[in-house]
Amino acid sequence: AELVVPETEVIKILFMKGIAANINQVLDIETATMVAEELDCEVETQEEESEARKVSEMLDVEDLEKLQARPPVVTIMGHVDHGKTTLLDAIRETKVAQGEAGGITQHIGAYHVDLPHEDGIQQVVFLDTPGHEAFTAMRARGTRVTDIAILVVAADDGVRPQTLEAISHARAAEVPIIVAINKIDKEGAQLDRVRQELSEHNLVPEDWGGETVMVPVSALKGENLDTLLEMVLLVAEVEDLQANPDRPAKGTVIEAHLDKAKGPVASLLVQNGTLRVGDVLVAGSVFGKVRAMVDDRGARVETASPSFAVEVLGMSEVPAAGEEFEVFVDEKEARSQAGQRTDQQRHTRLQQAMASRRVSLNALSEQAREGELKELNLIIKADVQGSLEALLGSLAQLPQNEVQVRVLLSAPGEISETDVDLASASGAVIIGFNTSLASGARQAADQAGVDIREYDIIYKLLEDIEGAMEGLLEPEF
Ligand code: GDP
Repeated sequence: AELVVPETEVIKILFMKGIAANINQVLDIETATMVAEELDCEVETQEEESEARKVSEMLDVEDLEKLQARPPVVTIMGHVDHGKTTLLDAIRETKVAQGEAGGITQHIGAYHVDLPHEDGIQQVVFLDTPGHEAFTAMRARGTRVTDIAILVVAADDGVRPQTLEAISHARAAEVPIIVAINKIDKEGAQLDRVRQELSEHNLVPEDWGGETVMVPVSALKGENLDTLLEMVLLVAEVEDLQANPDRPAKGTVIEAHLDKAKGPVASLLVQNGTLRVGDVLVAGSVFGKVRAMVDDRGARVETASPSFAVEVLGMSEVPAAGEEFEVFVDEKEARSQAGQRTDQQRHTRLQQAMASRRVSLNALSEQAREGELKELNLIIKADVQGSLEALLGSLAQLPQNEVQVRVLLSAPGEISETDVDLASASGAVIIGFNTSLASGARQAADQAGVDIREYDIIYKLLEDIEGAMEGLLEPEF
């Protein structure tokens, strides 16, 4: 950072705040920001840094004195069919069910387990949004919801494309990786081959002199899961995770949907502060007043402390997954914040929908080849919000030097005639992921010359989009 004030001035400010600093010390962004505020100037942080913003982003200077340890939030990532879901279920079953006979587990996008540790119980929170969606969602927005990533690699299949994808996501977010080499019960299991392949991508196992914790497990048979969980606690300890429970809550929407009976339902991960029934909050541009909260064990709760997730009733609309939320002490302020944000969104959406052309992905690819394509407009529909977030996150990562991807609309649900209208009006291609077409949509699309592409594999989709951007898409007849 460049600053046009003498270092001594900075040190003085820090000293006044009770922070001892010397002249050679590198300030972290929060401290630098605080100093900058004192000096009435703005801090410009670089892209790389903001990409790796940590949960500590959720912390303010005022929190520093009241920090307390919080449980780690863990995401399980890996290639399709390598056993992510099985592992999540296995951990949940063994650790949650114990002593809670009859407890009805509730899917709220995250669950917590109580592990015996040293002289007490240590809790760990697992995000169970399928795949690495939670990861990409937060990456797309530059925040970090995960403290530790468990990378599942099937011992009979080894490192695959999505394994590498997961590694790069975790690396970019600076999240420590623990490898679970899964399916060791299978005949074709080749542990050393997996270790070798991972080493080629700079994940070198500890017993080979590297730094990556690798635990052989069988999710299916429940083998060695305790060791895996111990490793999670160990890594968490090193990370020294903290938050201030004594303040209004802040965090991230991990899932949301519309329930016919209950109205908008949002699963919120509290990352700082404590969320309470009756709190007034804004999630993205959506206003809410917490009417009731349910935890992952289906129990009604009054409060949710840092690292815990709860399902919240009382949102005015369905917020988008990955959106940040914040509790406001003043209801009026909350409402006006939500209003402002809605206006902004509407404005940009309108702008984006202005251009009017008929397009297909192949035609766009052709334009890209000729160097004429500057923007690739997309409308994305998917089965669930989680998939959408995954897609958006991955799309954001495609290199966009020549051609920029613009998502005009992304929503869960079927592809409707309205989507076709918007696509037609804005020269967009419609992407359907794990979803279907509403009746009449196909006909409308054919009439309007709108290209609808359906996918059920994320990297296939990405391949096509990237291909089109580079002008490499094979013409389709
Ligand atoms: P995901 O796509 O990564 O969530 O993978 P799943 O959890 O759905 O697992 C894919 C398949 O692998 C399923 O048929 C599982 O039963 C199977 N599977 C998962 N873990 C194991 C394991 O440890 N051993 C064996 N033999 N099969 C497993």
